[in-house]
Amino acid sequence: MTDNTPTLTLYNSLTRKKEVFTPQDPTRVTMYNCGPTVYSYAHIGNARAAVVADVLFRVLRHIYGEDHVVYARNITDVDDKIIAAAKDQGVDIKEITEKYARIYNEDLAAIGCLPPTYQPKATDNIGGMIAIIEKLIADDYAYVSDGHVFFDVSKFDDYGKLSGNTLENLRGGDRVGEGEVARKKNAADFVLWKPELDGVGWDAPFGKGRPGWHIECSAMAKETLGETIDIHCGGVDLKFPHHENEIAQSECAHGKTMANYWAHNEFLSLTRPDGYQQKMSKSAGNVTLIHDLLKDWHGEVIRLALLKAHYRSELVWSEDLLRESKEQLDGWYRLIEAADPHPNRVAQIDKNYLNKILDDINTAEGIGFFSKFRQYINFSRQNDYKIKEQYKVEGMTKVTHHEETRAAEFVASANLLGLLQKDPEEWFSGGISDTDHALAAEYDTVRAEAVAAKKFGDKAAMGAAFSRSDAIRDDLKSRGLVLETGADGVSVLRKA
Ligand code: AMP
Ligand code: ZN
Repeated sequence: MTDNTPTLTLYNSLTRKKEVFTPQDPTRVTMYNCGPTVYSYAHIGNARAAVVADVLFRVLRHIYGEDHVVYARNITDVDDKIIAAAKDQGVDIKEITEKYARIYNEDLAAIGCLPPTYQPKATDNIGGMIAIIEKLIADDYAYVSDGHVFFDVSKFDDYGKLSGNTLENLRGGDRVGEGEVARKKNAADFVLWKPELDGVGWDAPFGKGRPGWHIECSAMAKETLGETIDIHCGGVDLKFPHHENEIAQSECAHGKTMANYWAHNEFLSLTRPDGYQQKMSKSAGNVTLIHDLLKDWHGEVIRLALLKAHYRSELVWSEDLLRESKEQLDGWYRLIEAADPHPNRVAQIDKNYLNKILDDINTAEGIGFFSKFRQYINFSRQNDYKIKEQYKVEGMTKVTHHEETRAAEFVASANLLGLLQKDPEEWFSGGISDTDHALAAEYDTVRAEAVAAKKFGDKAAMGAAFSRSDAIRDDLKSRGLVLETGADGVSVLRKA
């Protein structure tokens, strides 16, 4: 690391203040993000958590180098809801979990998320979970009760340090049913291991069973990243009990801090008809699936909409937000298309822009800065022109490329957030069928015929050709496609 290493500040939920981020080892910066429980499609609230972590991953890669950041996001493929879904549908658990894990990865790739370095599955890490539980029992942090193993929260003085919950205020911080309260020493004790359900279980020294929810992340974080990780992320809803319990298990088993920085994203919510803002969640029944949105919107439009609010602010989701994001992206792609970013220039990320992102990943301000890039590009265009004209007067020629360089900087800066990743041509033609491209080609042919007919005074042929070309243009237009003249006079199709 050099003195020029950019400084990232992050709000640490553990200390409740913004701190300068210092990794344990700048050649191996580690981050963990709690991944999905795979039994159905992910919604756009889940996408927010994934996109926030993805931006953090990209920023860390920018600072420390691509090969020096290790990101683990798990797959929860054992859970009561999965077992119930498999039973309902009469299929093997794996059939459900593998299908939805694949869809999750496809959906996230479509909204521009890089694959994490590791994507461990809970079912591949049962051994690691059992080892932690055994250690906790041996050291008296956990106890066996009626086929269950519980973590004894009264043994961990720091319990509540992340969420600010005190033991006195806690009346049971896990997802166990009422009946299990009787098996616990303290109401806030949470389950590490429970008996097998519907034949789903693994052999363990404390009885055949399945893991509680929290233990999997402690095991997988240790396995992939080590006993102390740099940054742990997730939505605010996970702070308690999930992350609080991860800390309790990991810190008691390993005698080390589990994570030095905790980054939590706020909710994505919806405005209900009565004006109340409600968190998007499966239980509230108000989810919009990423999978469905992708049928109507480009992934980058969804991504921009998700990044418009700072991750620690609530994001109110709406169709208008998507429309506005689409219009902005169209405008930016038009701008860079006209400027034609210089491919051979090493593009720098603008420093003032970068500073906004480095300030606790302020994507809202960073995106606000995009209007400055537009000004820079327009100003440089005028300047390039002025210089050219001036030299012309003196009988010389000079071609400058400030405009192209500014455009390349804009693209590099937007790429840091996973935006403007496409070629403008690809952006504007995205999703247009081969048949429509063929119609655009036919349009050019018919127009050429019309022009030729005009030249030879063949009015009838000219009229027929023009009416055919008009019909093609109108047909395309009725389906939201416009014809524009591209390079060499060839028509290109664009979405209106
Ligand atoms: P889950 O599958 O419910 O455990 O959620 C996966 C990730 O999405 C977690 O980090 C959650 O905190 C996050 N999450 C769930 N719902 C929302 C929401 N409405 N807004 C933002 N993040 C959410
Ligand atoms: Zn977790």
